[in-house]
Amino acid sequence: MKLRLAIQKSGRLHDDSIKLLKECGIDVSNGLNKLKAEASNFPIEVYFLRDDDIPQYVEDGVADIGIVGENVVYEKNKPLTVLNKLGFGKCRLSVAVRKSENYTGISFLEGKKVATSYPVILTKYLKDKGVNAEVHEISGSVEIAPSIGLADAICDLVSSGSTLFSNGLQEAETILSSEAVLVATNSLDAGKKQIIDRLLFRIESVKKARNTKYILLNAPNDKLSEIIALLPGMKSPTVLPLAEPGWSSVHSVLNENDFWEIIEQLKAAGAQGILVVPIEKMVI
Ligand code: ATP
Ligand code: ZN
Repeated sequence: MKLRLAIQKSGRLHDDSIKLLKECGIDVSNGLNKLKAEASNFPIEVYFLRDDDIPQYVEDGVADIGIVGENVVYEKNKPLTVLNKLGFGKCRLSVAVRKSENYTGISFLEGKKVATSYPVILTKYLKDKGVNAEVHEISGSVEIAPSIGLADAICDLVSSGSTLFSNGLQEAETILSSEAVLVATNSLDAGKKQIIDRLLFRIESVKKARNTKYILLNAPNDKLSEIIALLPGMKSPTVLPLAEPGWSSVHSVLNENDFWEIIEQLKAAGAQGILVVPIEKMVI
């Protein structure tokens, strides 16, 4: 039995999807230019599709699981299960208005025309906020709609905001924060569920490792307890004697978010020769 996974054929999610599979020990590089590829070392078959089609294919059971942006999942609004957030493809779905506009809040949109490729999400948002606006669906180049007089505002995906800026627009309201997720059909047999569990276990290990660094440093023995207190580690730090008397080597793991602050404290506490290296997998 093979699990069938749908990923984007080409575009912003393709490379990171392949990279994630690779980090999970699943190699599909033999079929990248085809419609589907089989992994040699894991019971999985990968289908390459347009991202917009993935929710439908998974709902229909043509694929068992898929990797797609939350924006697409909520827009297509199919009965699917979101199994895991994957930490890439991050963007937000935002309302933007002309730079010259004095935007004071969502009620600004009352009676206005908003162009978007996300009519389902936008309509729901406006309804929740009690705003009556005309939602005008267009499939691409949404950001030019205000300058050609097609709409008063837009609702589109943003990552840096530079596209908005160069089209004379300002971001006014974020209505959804999105990242790539793993979705599954709601009807899976026990055998496929078991393969998914194996895959999810690997994905978790890869994700944990992504935020974590391995740190090695040298410490004078009389400062050891102070330095160890700064480094929680997985259980507790490893301490090994250096060849030079009175010194030890300390090994531990660090969360990337606390990284610079802890490094500063370690230096202040007398740590020297600090090395920080990436971790590939973390199995806890
Ligand atoms: P396809 O040909 O598969 O339909 P597409 O042109 O619709 O591709 P892409 O632009 O490749 O889609 O974007 C795919 C997904 O990447 C988006 O649905 C979204 O989840 C995510 N994404 C991340 N950052 C951005 C961004 N700045 N703009 C658009 N999408 C982004
Ligand atoms: Zn698309």
